[in-house]
Amino acid sequence: MSGAEQTLSASQRDLRLTIDTIPALVWSTGADGSVDFVNQHYLDYVGLPSEQLMEWGWTTAIHPDDLSGLAAIWRSLLASGKSGEAEARFRRADGEYRWLLLRANPLHDSNGNIVKWYGLNTDIEDRRRAEVHLAGEKHVLEMIACGRPLRDILTASCKLFEEAASDCFCGIYPIDGRGKIFEFGVAPSLPASYTAPIEGVQVDSDDSPRGQSISEKTQVIAEDIESDPRWMQAPCRAHVLDHGLRAVWSTPICSREESVIGTICVYQQRPGIPSSHHQEIIAHIAQLASIAIERSQSEDVLKRSQFYLTQGQRISLTGTFAWDVATDEIAFSGELKRIWEFEPNTVVTFALLRERTHPEDLRRTGAYLEQVRAGFDNPDYEMRLSMPDGRIKYLWVCARVVKQEDGRLECLGAIQDITRRRLAEDARDTIRSELAHVGRVASLGALTASIAHEVNQPLASIVTSSETALRWLNQPESNFEKVQQVLKRIVNDARRAADVIDRVRTMASKGTPRQAETELADIITECAASLYHEFQSKNVSNSLYLAPDLPKVMVDRTQLQQVIVNLLINAVQAMTTSDVAPRNIAIRTQQVDAQTVCCIVEDSGPGIDAEHLPRLFDSFFTTKETGMGLGLPIARSIIEAHNGVIRADNKSTLGGARLIIELPASFS
Ligand code: ADP
Repeated sequence: MSGAEQTLSASQRDLRLTIDTIPALVWSTGADGSVDFVNQHYLDYVGLPSEQLMEWGWTTAIHPDDLSGLAAIWRSLLASGKSGEAEARFRRADGEYRWLLLRANPLHDSNGNIVKWYGLNTDIEDRRRAEVHLAGEKHVLEMIACGRPLRDILTASCKLFEEAASDCFCGIYPIDGRGKIFEFGVAPSLPASYTAPIEGVQVDSDDSPRGQSISEKTQVIAEDIESDPRWMQAPCRAHVLDHGLRAVWSTPICSREESVIGTICVYQQRPGIPSSHHQEIIAHIAQLASIAIERSQSEDVLKRSQFYLTQGQRISLTGTFAWDVATDEIAFSGELKRIWEFEPNTVVTFALLRERTHPEDLRRTGAYLEQVRAGFDNPDYEMRLSMPDGRIKYLWVCARVVKQEDGRLECLGAIQDITRRRLAEDARDTIRSELAHVGRVASLGALTASIAHEVNQPLASIVTSSETALRWLNQPESNFEKVQQVLKRIVNDARRAADVIDRVRTMASKGTPRQAETELADIITECAASLYHEFQSKNVSNSLYLAPDLPKVMVDRTQLQQVIVNLLINAVQAMTTSDVAPRNIAIRTQQVDAQTVCCIVEDSGPGIDAEHLPRLFDSFFTTKETGMGLGLPIARSIIEAHNGVIRADNKSTLGGARLIIELPASFS
């Protein structure tokens, strides 16, 4: 062989060696498409001798289902003379069919005629499997996102496992939140008799690899349950064997907080341990199952707290709302719709709310809404609903303005139906005022009787004296001296009668005072609180200005309360009858001097007529149609009995009347 020939055959050998060792299936055909060459890797891959693959023999290695499709593509390539590719399953030497990608390129001569085809087949089984697995995983994740039942999601996860590892069965067993009980089990390829006995069973590390994997938070592998000494006595052994299974591999499923929330069990019908491929899929599926179980558990918790919330709302007759101030979108909770008596699917609007608000409360509630629009919180307030059938409902509203991150204002709040309480309170107030009225009438009766009795005598005397005086005057010669004497007697009797009235009035307010050292501020606060509803219903706002560190006073608490309540009611009445706006009352306490403290009640009413001022504290002086004119005189008697003074003027800072009570400070 010449040197040149030697060099050529050496390079041909090199080329052949290269082609044979390429990790792909290389082949060539004649122009007609019949195979004339396959490389060594091809032969090794399919495990067939070269002769068997020549011409059209290679088709024996193709999966029967893919053969016709592949042949059609190959024929069309030959006809068109263009390069192209196709996918088909080839039977590997070990009998397993695997997906290969086939690529073919034509070789042309100098005239452009095809003289040969060269081709390359690559094993794409792993890539395809990964793609299928990814699609399956996506499907399971979608199921989780759509909130499908946990059982369905775990069943799909098991199937996904079995698609990736066809030599195995898969089962997943979630445990309940407290980690003590198997809630249920899914193993779609095993009969129901396998998983059914597990439901509701206590987790026990000794009874199965499943229990042990949870208790010890570690993977437990039983290569062959039949011979594994750990499970010889365990009830699971017979159960597993009865279902034709031998190998059991149990892996704990952990939450993000690393607590065990279930276990994934993989079974094989023959003894074995997991390959790295198995371990990889187990880890994958365990992760999917963890997401699904955790989500379902937190949904359960959410559902439970939602249930408590709605039940709580129902029991306490409280509903909640959210109002987007910018868009005026209002969301009412179910209970709130029930309170307002809206249908469950009603879209709540301000127009609807206004329609149902009591007309007298519209202005006030409107002002509260404006306050919220300006970004301010409202004080908690009471409002009334006027239902279509004429019923009145009383609501207590608490709302707070929240500024969202994007600057939007949202008003969140709760509304309680206090109708029952208010009706009870109203009934109580009515009874109270009726009782008070009866009391007043009774004491007035007693007072009148005693007045009549005491005054009767001087009156009789006045009548007698007057008749005597008339007689003296009617005589032909009038005796003026006698008449003068009689008139003096009349004046004295009249004075006596006035004294009697004064005495009786003083008696009326006496009782037995139980004096104790008391904070004036406490009494005032109690009075204001007891009149809270009176103020609310009459739209009166009441402010307290209580001086700190005021000396205490020695008073009969009830009597002083009676006085202050009387002053406050007078103020409310003065403002409502004259229909002034706004209606404000201020109660102040002050130290007058070292020995004296005072309480001042001011209002924004019309004030007291100058001509009435001197008679204000006279018994029976009243300007009211139904007034009795006893409130202020009794107040004066009480205050004087406490060594104090009470007076009235029109110097209120609010524009109306001002009543001042001065009391001695107590220094005991
Ligand atoms: P009554 O309330 O039954 O009229 P009172 O003795 O409590 O009896 O009051 C006497 C009168 O004093 C009232 O009728 C009213 O004319 C006047 N008066 C009391 N308080 C005020 C007030 N805050 N503003 C205007 N007038 C008042």
